[in-house]
Amino acid sequence: MGKGGLVSAKKKIAMLAALSVAVITVIVSAFFMPRTTEKNFFAMNTVCNVKITGKDSKTVAQELEKTVVGLDENVLSRQNENSITARLNLNGGGEIDEKLNEYFSVLLDVCQKSGGSFDFTLGKVSDLWGFGGEAAVPNPYALYNELGHTGYENIALSANSVTFEDEFAVDFGAAGKGIALDSIRENLGKSETKEAVVSVGGSILLYGDKDFSVGIRNPEGNAGSYVAILNIPEGCVSTSGSYERFFEQDGKQYHHIIDPETGYPAKSGVVSVTVVSQSGILSDALSTACFVLGTEKGMVLAKEYGCETVFIDENKTVYVSDGLRDRIEITDKAYTFSE
Ligand code: AMP
Ligand code: MG
Repeated sequence: MGKGGLVSAKKKIAMLAALSVAVITVIVSAFFMPRTTEKNFFAMNTVCNVKITGKDSKTVAQELEKTVVGLDENVLSRQNENSITARLNLNGGGEIDEKLNEYFSVLLDVCQKSGGSFDFTLGKVSDLWGFGGEAAVPNPYALYNELGHTGYENIALSANSVTFEDEFAVDFGAAGKGIALDSIRENLGKSETKEAVVSVGGSILLYGDKDFSVGIRNPEGNAGSYVAILNIPEGCVSTSGSYERFFEQDGKQYHHIIDPETGYPAKSGVVSVTVVSQSGILSDALSTACFVLGTEKGMVLAKEYGCETVFIDENKTVYVSDGLRDRIEITDKAYTFSE
C-alpha cells in the first residue's frame, strides 16, 4: 500500500469515528431531552387535561391522574359513599386530618368574608335542582325546607375534627377543582417537570418559568371559543360561568351556582368570573363566590385575598382588576372593557 492509500484510510477512519460520535450524541440527547406528554381523563365530575414537559413526563402524567382521581374518590366526592366527605355528611362530622382541616378553614374564611354568598353546605339544595342528573325547578316548599338545613355558621371546626347538623351536606363542588390543582403542583414540585398546564374543568394550573396564554371562554360559545386572552405567569386560574351547567324550563334558563339566601340560581348580572391566584383552592372558591356577589362586591372580596379577576356581565362588558390590565386582550369584538 502506498503513502496516499494510508492517508485516505486514516481519513476514512477519522470520518467514521466523527460520524459515530455525532450519532451517539444525537441518540443520547434525544434520550435526555424533555418530552411532552398530553393526557385527558375524567374526574371531579368534569374533564381533566394534562400537558407536561420534562423528564419522565409520561410517568408524571399518570401519577397526576392517580392523584386527582384519588382525591376525588377517597376524599371529596359526595357520590362515593366511602369517601371521607360522604362519611362526614352521613355522621354530621367526624375526625379529619391536617389537609382536610386546611380545606375547611380556608373555605369557612371565604364563607365569612363573602358574607355567606359562598356556602359549601348547600349540598342538599343543589341535589334538589338535580344538576348533573335530571334537572328541574324544585318544589318551593322542599327548597325552603332544605335551605333550613344549610349554613356554614353551624360548622364547628377543631384541629382534628369537624361537626355540623346531621341534615347538612357539605359540598366541595365549588372548590374541589382548585384543591386538585394545589395537590398537582405539590407533585410537580417533586418531579423534574419543566412546564405543565393542567386543567380540571374550569380550573387551570400553569406551571413553569414563563408567561402562559390562557383563553377566557366565550359564555355564549362552545368550549373552544374565547372572548379574551390572558398572558400571565405561573399560578392558578379558575372560571365560574352560568354556561357550565344549566337547563331550560318553560323558556327560562337555570344554572348551577346558587344564591344561598334564596336557594335559586344567583342573579348578579354576571355570566362569568375568572380568578387568578397562586392558591388553587382560593381561585376556585373565589370564582364561585364572586359569581354570586357580582362585579363590585366580588372585586372587593378578591382584592382582600390579593387575587386578580376578570368579570364578564350580561351586557358583554369585561371588568378587569388592576393587576391584569396590561395582561389581557379582548379577541371577540362583541365584548368591550368597562370604562
Ligand atoms: P364552580 O363551578 O366552581 O363555580 O362550582 C359550582 C358548584 O359549587 C355547584 O355545582 C355546586 O356544587 C356548588 N355551589 C353552588 N352554589 C354555591 C355557593 N353559593 N357556594 C358554594 N358552593 C356552591
Ligand atoms: Mg369554584
